[in-house]
Amino acid sequence: MARNLILCLLISFSFVFSACKKESVGGVFDYRTLGTSANDLLSSYRYHSLQIEIQYMPGYAPDATALNNLVAFLKTRIDKPNGITIIQEEIGASSLSVASLFNIVSIERSYRRYFTGNDVVSVYVLITNGYSNADILATSYWNTSFCIFGKSLNDNSGQSGQVSKSILMTTLLEHEFGHLMGLVDQGSPMQINHKGAGNGAHCDNPVCLMYYDVEAGFTGALSAVPSLDANCIADLKANGGK
Ligand SMILES: [Zn+2]
Ligand SMILES: [Zn+2]
Repeated sequence: MARNLILCLLISFSFVFSACKKESVGGVFDYRTLGTSANDLLSSYRYHSLQIEIQYMPGYAPDATALNNLVAFLKTRIDKPNGITIIQEEIGASSLSVASLFNIVSIERSYRRYFTGNDVVSVYVLITNGYSNADILATSYWNTSFCIFGKSLNDNSGQSGQVSKSILMTTLLEHEFGHLMGLVDQGSPMQINHKGAGNGAHCDNPVCLMYYDVEAGFTGALSAVPSLDANCIADLKANGGK
């Protein structure tokens, strides 16, 4: 009897402990399916401001121009009357030269500090010191999370015949935000069909910011950050954006 009681108490304590642990981690409105916060990001219906937490590994801090470009881009597309803030922090280097989605998710779960709540929608950006195992430069994986693979970005920019590092960083930041805002047809329904065949949630227009090439690093000597085309903008507007 006493043994059973102790066992019951242990089981109850472990339930209480796991429940508390989950709560303290935060992220009740984060860590959800990509695209499900598109309207929360675009409109002021639930959240009046946006905070962007950027954690980068040593040597991979985003440049100020790229961040200014990102904020200017967002201001033209999203309705956040209380503003957009960026919080940057350097985190420890990873020993992984190639990271999987599982790896970056576990880094985010260990280090992310800011979560959505209290009138503020929060986005997490991780910039690693390595490559992706999927041979891409960046990826969006949850409703408020994306990752840029710093080594891939460096390898694909800054040399003769390549795009400048600042333009590529801006392009990736804006492209991944495009995914969080529900493009293409993943959270913000298409007003007319413009999804590229066989390339996931990407636009069919080769000069649009949401063309799949952007993420794959086939941008060549791009001289400017690609813009969103009319079809992508129409989708954002229809889902609470500008
Ligand atoms: Zn993409
Ligand atoms: Zn487009």
